[in-house]
Order: sequence, then C-alpha cells, then structure tokens
Amino acid sequence: MRSVDDHRDAALALGTPLAPVRVPLLDALGCVLAEEVTAAWPLPSFDNTSMDGYAVRAADLAGASESTPVTLPVIDDVAAGHLPSRALAPGSAIRIMTGARIPEGADAVVPVEWTDGGTEAVAITLAADPGAHVRIRGEDVREGDPLIPAGIVVTSRQVALLAAAGRGEVSVHPRPRVAVLSTGDELVEPGQPLAEGRIADSNSFMLMAAVIEAGGIPHRAGPVRDDEQALRAVLEAEAARSDLIISTGGVSMGAYDTVKSVLSQTGSVEFVKVAMQPGMPQGLGHVGEAPIVTLPGNPVSAYVSFEVFVRPLIRRLRGCPRVERARIDAICGHTFNSPADKTQFARVTIQVDGNGVTAIPEGSQGSHILGGLARAHALAVVPPGVTRVEQGDPLVLIDLSPDD
Ligand code: AMP
Ligand code: MG
Repeated sequence: MRSVDDHRDAALALGTPLAPVRVPLLDALGCVLAEEVTAAWPLPSFDNTSMDGYAVRAADLAGASESTPVTLPVIDDVAAGHLPSRALAPGSAIRIMTGARIPEGADAVVPVEWTDGGTEAVAITLAADPGAHVRIRGEDVREGDPLIPAGIVVTSRQVALLAAAGRGEVSVHPRPRVAVLSTGDELVEPGQPLAEGRIADSNSFMLMAAVIEAGGIPHRAGPVRDDEQALRAVLEAEAARSDLIISTGGVSMGAYDTVKSVLSQTGSVEFVKVAMQPGMPQGLGHVGEAPIVTLPGNPVSAYVSFEVFVRPLIRRLRGCPRVERARIDAICGHTFNSPADKTQFARVTIQVDGNGVTAIPEGSQGSHILGGLARAHALAVVPPGVTRVEQGDPLVLIDLSPDD
C-alpha cells in the first residue's frame, strides 16, 4: 500500500501553476498574483490635508487659545480634487477640505472645529505644530517601492492598494477549470424522486462546492452511467477543456467499476491502494494532457480524498505558495479506535475553552456517514501504528474552516 504522503506528492506532481494572464483588477480577487507590483507613483502622491479646516503657517498661530484667538484673513478656498490658486502669504489662512493639496507656504492645518468657520476671516483658538494634519507625499508608499510581492492571494485590501497605485489590470495565475465527473447507474439528480435502489448524486455537488472553496472553477460532467463507451466519450471531451478532471466512483473491485477499467486501458493512470481510512482505492494520471484524480465513490471517502490530494493540487495550479491546510493541535475528548496499518482521517467536532482545543470524534466513522461529515469541524489525523486514541491524548487536526 502507498503512504498518504507519497500519494499526495504524486498528486501534486500532476500540475504546475497555470500560465499567468492579465485580468481587470476585480477579476484578480482570490487569484494569486503572478507579478511583483511596484508603485508607479508615491502614496500619497502630493502633500494633502487629513482634515477639513484651514491651511496656515504654524508660526502665525503662536499663543492662540480659546481666550486669545488669532484672526487671519482667508485668501483662498480649496476643495478636494482642486488646486490652490495661490501660495499662502504669511499672516493669512486658506480654507481647505480633506484630501486637497496643501498650498505652498503652508506647513499645518487647523481643523474647522477649532475655528469660527469664517470664509472672509477666520478666528482660530488652537496653536498648531508644524506638520499638523498634513499627509506627506510618499509617507505610505514611495515611488518604485514593491507594493505586493508575487504569490499573494489578492483580497479586497490588495485590490485597494493596486487601485490606489494606478493599476487597472494585473497579472495573476488563473483559477483552474475542474471537471467533476460522477459515475453510477444508481445516481439521480438531487430534488428528483428516488426510485427504489437509487440515490441522489451528492458527490458531484459536494465536489463542485469543494472545488469552489479551493479556488477552482467547477464544471459538472455527469452523472455518467456505468458504461465504458459513455465514460470514454465524456473523459475525452472534458480533457480537452479542463485543467483538471476529478471523478468519483468506479475505482474499486466491483464488476461495473468503469472508471478503473476504462482508464487502465490508456496506461497513463495508475490505480493504487493508499494506506488511509477512509479512501483506500485511488487513481491518478492523465487523460490526454489533462491531469485526472479518480476518487472513491463513498461520499466521505471522496471528500477526505479531495481534501488530502485534490485541494493541494488545485492550490498548486492556482500558484498558491502554501498548498496545505492549517493544522491544529488538540486533545482527544473521547476514546476511539484506529486501523493499525493506515492513516485515519477521523471526522471530529471541536470545542475551544480555557484548556485549549478538544476534539470529539463523530460516532460512526463509516465512509457513507454524511451527517457526521457535515457536522465535523476538522479531520483528526491518526498515523499508522496507532490503534487506539485515548481521551486526553494529543491529536493533530486538519482545520476544515474556510481559509486562504
Ligand atoms: P463505487 O465505488 O462506484 O462502487 O461506489 C461506492 C459507493 O459510493 C456506492 O454505495 C455508491 O452508490 C456510492 N456513490 C458513488 N457515487 C456516488 C455519488 N456521486 N453520490 C453519492 N454516492 C455515490
Ligand atoms: Mg459505482
């Protein structure tokens, strides 16, 4: 049996970051930046006021107070987006609004709250230090400074910086297009009535949702009947337009395991047993140029395999420097058993209190138990060789909460 780590490495080896594309700023959201962006101009790009008030020379206000206001003539009025029409003469003031350029000759701004608000002349009741309420050119970002390094996932905060620095387009790794292919004669569309012996195709919706959560763009191809010819046609079509194909079902030892039988014939997909529970039967390789990962059919097995093998691969295709989920240290809150020769990914809920994080295994760990999967917050990773995890033992968890 192959170890989980070896199979994860084999999955990661299927892909490299997708070639960068230039996209409009908002389309970069959630993508990984493929260029180092430098500032084309400083931020702020000119000295400006942080308050509505009056631009002054600080020296003119020496001794100003409530009881001894200093009155200055107002010689100009500058709104944001407009330029002062003249320099500040000594002994005068210029009315100025937040974001407007500081007039030449002024070295401070007095907020309107400390004045009588006059438009011809203004009485000021507060002395000002030089530089007060002046936002200095380049104090945030200097021209030519690196703004954002390559490899960062763009969030709204980076969008703001890029926009401020004058970038309407940036170069990013595109999101991978992922074909999600479910297989099985038993599958019915969710919402449709179930005939005897049929089940809803939960895997393809689960996996499409997981692809979105991992930053990919899913495309549903299926469900495909357990028919080799039909499957071959779908695989061919998807390979031509996908950066990655994932399938579920049809890879174990059953008589109608079509995924395995079709892909075994092409020779570029290897099927292996991975020492894990759930999720032992796995396959990966290529269909044409497109990488494919074949996941087991049991829903919990499919989910765990996606988490452990496919999510890191999608993140690699996206160019993410970190492909793994965050791990959390926890204490076991309830004794449970684990298979001797496999890594177990136990579905657990977590409680956080003064003692730290306690992980409580969901009752049944069967690979068809979707209720427990839906309730779980994390997967407890129990390595091979451990057959029993006692209450109070340390556990390492894969945190399933959304992240980036
Ligand atoms: P298989 O590997 O195709 O034999 O499937 C193993 C188990 O997973 C069977 O109980 C299937 O009915 C179930 N299964 C397969 N595909 C899906 C799916 N798309 N949604 C829900 N259950 C599935
Ligand atoms: Mg099947």
